[in-house]
Amino acid sequence: CGIVGYIGYRDAYPIVVKGLHRLEYRGYDSAGIALLDKELRVYKKAGKVDDLEAFVKGVDLKGSLGMGHTRWATHGEPSDRNSHPHSSGNRKLTIIHNGIIENYGIIKETLLAKGHVFKSDTDTEVLIHLIEDMQQQGGLDLRDAVRVALNKVIGAYAIVIMSEDEPDLLIAARKGSPMVIGVGKGEYFIASDATPIVEYTKNVIYLNDNEIAYVHRDNLLIKNIDNSVQTPYVHELDLKL
Ligand code: GLU
Repeated sequence: CGIVGYIGYRDAYPIVVKGLHRLEYRGYDSAGIALLDKELRVYKKAGKVDDLEAFVKGVDLKGSLGMGHTRWATHGEPSDRNSHPHSSGNRKLTIIHNGIIENYGIIKETLLAKGHVFKSDTDTEVLIHLIEDMQQQGGLDLRDAVRVALNKVIGAYAIVIMSEDEPDLLIAARKGSPMVIGVGKGEYFIASDATPIVEYTKNVIYLNDNEIAYVHRDNLLIKNIDNSVQTPYVHELDLKL
């Protein structure tokens, strides 16, 4: 139900958790985060953002790449294992998702037949396994794998993806669910709405339906899912704080 992402030079964890708190007004049943320093780490819990914060007390929270999610369960009961992020079979990719993948059942059947093992009951986990499958079986690089997978998906989504093999990349995409990218200097912020972003920058890009943003620390590239390059429009928020 809520999405926050950060890529830059600061520690991602405090920014992401603060952002999740700012999105709490939307309502949710679970919360989780992924952080990437040298390796990808995922922490998630049914309950409130406060419960997640208590859960990660004492663990390694380093990483200048990170993302967080609050879940409003649609597929699979609220539980620790159904909370986001969801990871691929090889644990190298992880995803957070708002919305519903309507054709997840048929995709899951195909992937199960290929030997994929699922750890949750969510529609979301099917999408990250599909992307992994595109890389492994289809020989596609991550960027193409995400794009080709999204072309096979029916439904609504705002997603953010991280890969252990790509420590300078967040991939964000949307169709039917809102997504805002805050543009900083050497850093970018991603969120479901501008409230987690406004304290850091007033320059934002509203991602359009069917767009994928490949976000690096120093630049971003936006493509349509048909692979055409898009020219982003940077809005200046009118902040009366
Ligand atoms: N459909 C996904 C799930 O049930 C995402 C729900 C949401 O938007 O939070 O896990």
